[in-house]
Amino acid sequence: MGDKIPTVEEKAGEEAVRYRMLYDTNGRVYTRKISGFFQKIRRYTGLPLIVGFLLMPWFVIDGRPAMLFDLPARKFHILWMTFWPQDGMLLAWLLIIAAFALFTVTVLVGRVWCGFTCPQTVWTLMFIWAEHFCEGDRNKMMKLDKQAWNTEKIMRKSGKHFLWLLIAFITGLTFVGYFTPIRELILGFWPSMDATGFVTFDIHPAAAFWTLFFAFMTYLNAGWMREQVCKYMCPYARFQSVMYDTDTLAVHYDAARGETRGPRKPKDDYKAEGKGDCIDCSWCVQVCPVDIDIREGLQYECINCGLCIDACDQVMDKMDYDRGLIRFTSEDQLENGATHFLRPRLFGYIFAVIAMMSAFVYVVGTRQPVSVDVIRDRGARMYRITNEFVQNVYTVKINNMDERPHSYKIAVEGDGAYKIRGYRPLELEAGEVFTVPVRVSVPKEDLKSTKSVIRFIVTASDNEGISAKEDTSFIGPNK
Ligand code: SF4
Ligand code: SF4
Repeated sequence: MGDKIPTVEEKAGEEAVRYRMLYDTNGRVYTRKISGFFQKIRRYTGLPLIVGFLLMPWFVIDGRPAMLFDLPARKFHILWMTFWPQDGMLLAWLLIIAAFALFTVTVLVGRVWCGFTCPQTVWTLMFIWAEHFCEGDRNKMMKLDKQAWNTEKIMRKSGKHFLWLLIAFITGLTFVGYFTPIRELILGFWPSMDATGFVTFDIHPAAAFWTLFFAFMTYLNAGWMREQVCKYMCPYARFQSVMYDTDTLAVHYDAARGETRGPRKPKDDYKAEGKGDCIDCSWCVQVCPVDIDIREGLQYECINCGLCIDACDQVMDKMDYDRGLIRFTSEDQLENGATHFLRPRLFGYIFAVIAMMSAFVYVVGTRQPVSVDVIRDRGARMYRITNEFVQNVYTVKINNMDERPHSYKIAVEGDGAYKIRGYRPLELEAGEVFTVPVRVSVPKEDLKSTKSVIRFIVTASDNEGISAKEDTSFIGPNK
């Protein structure tokens, strides 16, 4: 940042050059471009997210995309695992774990998720990069907007919107690529000519609609609305303050050191004049993407992006003052000189996240790729006595959730010599659901009561490790 620190008069002039931005009545501020420690971190935390998002739909495992939410087949493929609608609880569980992890991070370091890794922030940074690339830095942008429309302005503006639309389209395409194989999706957008000479696209209308819809939303959110999404639309911004405590690390202005703020000449003995380290240059405000003044104290709009820290540190360097007038710190640190990291609330969150994650990993790790449902026939005759045997009829539903075909054998266990009649193992295709009536009989003398508990066990013939159980009841004659 080679800019000189603007004077109060210059600052007033700059603030007059605001222009309206979608749905913010205060108008949009041209944020000053800034570099520094936290900006580097933002770049490096955003990069893996973008690369991971773009590449994931291209990976193939067992002949299908590594991550595919196959809605028509009602199957979610995540790496080597396939989830079915009956695994919906696991998805809900995963979301709860993610929410608790976010709460834990918020208690510890405030809204760093918002400032560094939230997709809204990362995509906004990409769009800002495209804007700076085409229109130059803050001063050039302001000048360009003030000048009359000419070739240069048209080229720069259209270049920016072309880049924005390109990024937005790639984003929409990639996002829909998580729901339909991405290679076919891209080929579908490839134009071809039919016999009559018309240009056609071999794409499903729903896939085309959702790609364009997400592309438009990306263009709108990251290009036009930017941090206004954080400020007005994100529900997390509204309730995150209840997770803050006095030891939460967040971006704070050190008022005891900075006040009384005011301009001064470099050689002034400002302390003798009763002034603090803040020279009231407003750089911290000019760089703020949510247009707040952190010197007024912690505000819910602040996304903890650290831009104001980088800006103020550069001002401190120019003035030859110590860095850190604005810094990541806690209220306790500022008021009492110490931050308490070991606190019950934080341990409570950490414990809850570890416990839930351990249970989740265990459940997913021991999950069987087959499920069985058993319904006892409640027809006119609940049971039948054949010679010395009692028989019940059941409907057994086997769901082969594995990626491979299997034939399944059915066994029944109980307190007696229970036997299955009339069932021969059949091969079930991958993902096939098979329903079969099954007769279970037991010698009459083995029944101790009218109602007994029995267990159906379904096992893959070629792999004893793939198995599922279901308990049901066996009804006999009144004793
Ligand atoms: S806090 Fe720092 S950046 Fe903000 S006005 Fe004061 S000196 Fe300038
Ligand atoms: S006050 Fe500072 S940390 Fe908060 S949003 Fe503005 S620039 Fe980012």
